[in-house]
Amino acid sequence: MDKNFQEEEMAQITKFTPPLYKQRYQFVKDLVEKYKPKKVADLGCADGSLLRMLKFCSCIEVLAGLDICASVMEEKMYTLSPLPIDYLQPPERSLTITLHQGSVAHKDPCMLGFDLVTCIELIEHLEESELKKFPEVVFGFMAPDIVVISTPNSEFNPLLPGVILYRHPDHKFEWNQAQFQGWALEAARCYDYSVEFTGVGHPPTGMESVGFCTQIGVFLRKYPQTSKPVHSEKPTEAVYKTVFKAVYPSLKDEKYLQNAVVNEVTFTAQIIKHRFMSKHEEYGDGPERKSKFQPSVNYFSDFLGKLVVEKNMEPFVSGNVVYVPLTTIFSFPKVNRLCGTFEKLCKLIAGKVTMSSDGSAVMLSTEYEENYITDFSH
Ligand code: SAM
Repeated sequence: MDKNFQEEEMAQITKFTPPLYKQRYQFVKDLVEKYKPKKVADLGCADGSLLRMLKFCSCIEVLAGLDICASVMEEKMYTLSPLPIDYLQPPERSLTITLHQGSVAHKDPCMLGFDLVTCIELIEHLEESELKKFPEVVFGFMAPDIVVISTPNSEFNPLLPGVILYRHPDHKFEWNQAQFQGWALEAARCYDYSVEFTGVGHPPTGMESVGFCTQIGVFLRKYPQTSKPVHSEKPTEAVYKTVFKAVYPSLKDEKYLQNAVVNEVTFTAQIIKHRFMSKHEEYGDGPERKSKFQPSVNYFSDFLGKLVVEKNMEPFVSGNVVYVPLTTIFSFPKVNRLCGTFEKLCKLIAGKVTMSSDGSAVMLSTEYEENYITDFSH
């Protein structure tokens, strides 16, 4: 190959776009989107960068990170905590993120029950004795549905300027494609997994035999979850130390669900009231004239227009109070979706929203449009 061409190619490939680490994370994200695991553990998670990306995958309910080095995890672990917006608008799904300090050479029951285990640029940092125990811990003990392992491909190193022996001083080894694939196939055979090889960081045109800059093995467990894992007894003694735990607000938690329902009911009742009062003003009739309200096309949405023609769903006014039937509020898709049943709606708003004495309508003041009536006893 022409030397200038080769140098040009090298300059291009050493500056991967997006950067190689992002391509590795994206690879994992694509796997998550394909297999939709609920529980994901990242071994050798370092500062939690991959976990930070995965927390936005809506299928994931449990995320765990493991690293031998507590200080590297502690650097940015606060960024794995919920944000104010998570409390303002809690999602449906629950999410717990936990970071553990410990070694992949040791078994701990907190690593059981995961659907996907990721080991991104980890194995080349393991001492020989740790690497020997690693397959038994990951495939034998943890035994998730899917394991993804990435590691540098040493055949690519001559294309990376400045790499003399290994890409990083902490690497204990770097394998060529045959070495990685031989190790991976043996682990897969031993623990009843299948494995497929791929990678990220394409070699330059004409040099395809070099392989990807990062080689990746994706392992799928062949036996069903209910069967006993191959070669593994499950010790119960905890050896990892939990260094961080964040439980995200979720509508699965009754406390957040109640808050969301009360807010939505209040908001919906205000909208209904506002449009009801505007309509009265348009017709020039007083709010006391309780039965004069007639729905029209532009009154509410078409959707609500259809609903309010049913008699007992019409708002009405008595004195300085607008009564908004709870059945009308329940008919709004968001309220309906949040509560599921009318009974649940009644239960969630009991004591939190001012209701008529028979509990059939939400009471709002006619006088202060924006103010919610909190006390009618005076
Ligand atoms: N996976 C991360 C990523 O791709 O951004 C970071 C990989 S970093 C190159 C390797 C990590 O493995 C380091 O944070 C190191 O502390 C951790 N590590 C090394 N030996 C380990 C062991 N025996 N058990 C768990 N983690 C280990």
